Amino acid sequence: MFQVTVDADKCTGDSNCVDTCPTSVFELQDNKAVPVNMDECLGCESCVEVCETGAITVKEI
Ligand code: SF4
Repeated sequence: MFQVTVDADKCTGDSNCVDTCPTSVFELQDNKAVPVNMDECLGCESCVEVCETGAITVKEI
């Protein structure tokens, strides 16, 4: 199981993670990415790679 966090101060709302995540973990809310389906995370870190501001952290828990 993985814990996905988004630093809202760094998130620019470009939705790269929303578009990239294979299991639709993220949703944009008020122009910020929110990990609404964290239970579905595969730990692939694709979101971490595409995030231009380094706002996303994925940690195995
Ligand atoms: S690590 Fe992969 S599965 Fe998990 S939120 Fe990021 S893109 Fe989605």
